Amino acid sequence: MSQTLAGKTALVTGGSRGIGRSIAERLAREGATVAVTYNERKYGADETVATIEKSGGTAFALQVDLADAESIPDLFERLDQEFTSRTGSNALNVLVNNAGNTAWGGIAAATPEAWNATFAVHARAPLFIAQTATSRLSDAGRIINISSGAATRPLSTALIYSAAKASVNSLTQALAIELGPRRITVNAVAPGWTRTDMNAAVRENAHMVAAIEADTTLGRFGEPEEIASVVAFLASEEGRWVTGQVIEASGGFKL
Ligand code: NAP
Repeated sequence: MSQTLAGKTALVTGGSRGIGRSIAERLAREGATVAVTYNERKYGADETVATIEKSGGTAFALQVDLADAESIPDLFERLDQEFTSRTGSNALNVLVNNAGNTAWGGIAAATPEAWNATFAVHARAPLFIAQTATSRLSDAGRIINISSGAATRPLSTALIYSAAKASVNSLTQALAIELGPRRITVNAVAPGWTRTDMNAAVRENAHMVAAIEADTTLGRFGEPEEIASVVAFLASEEGRWVTGQVIEASGGFKL
């Protein structure tokens, strides 16, 4: 099968595990040179890079703590150097804003600190990464934000998280309008319950697992690769006419 992203470059934030790792591996299989970021788990990012290289792909890892907005210009300086040394230019074709910190809690647990920490990584970082990326993004490039089904059907047990993801959906549409004249598409992929560290504690509770599976039309948790498939479509030439959309990949959660 031909590679849909041969000769292209991609940045996937939060590529050290979970959904981000699957997205990075999939985009690399499609031929992209992939940069993954991590926060604390260098070993996880190194594993992602090693898996990609073992399959004949090209990838590298960079550390960034997206809770700190000041870290974004520095991330792009390092990214410019790494892409230029591998491809001869700092051009970016595909940006995937995926990184996310865990943020459980309802109204009683809500604090200004939790609001700031959650919005910083889930909502602020995607905007300022996109802002910094726009001068590097090629015409007809792609921005894909990983949102959540919780953006439109908020979880009372993840109140601030749900609000942050609603912001991601709104940013996605506004950026799509602004970047449309350059044929850059901007979309969000909204996973439902997907088997990753983010909900490991939930999956230890048999009652919650049964309730989630009963609420999911296809009757199970999703796998990270099933989110990566949707991202790969949007990143490809086949996805060129889709912009400003939030595409849910949840196996039909709460239909
Ligand atoms: P995960 O397995 O917990 O991985 C989170 C990733 O984000 C890791 O690479 C982590 O880096 C990185 N990260 C966390 N905090 C960061 C920070 N302060 N700065 C930079 N990077 C940071 O999560 P996941 O389940 O794959 O989630 C990926 C995305 O999908 C998130 O946006 C999440 O909200 C969304 N989502 C997930 C689900 C689900 O059911 N899993 C459902 C809907 C939406 P380290 O490894 O270095 O910590």
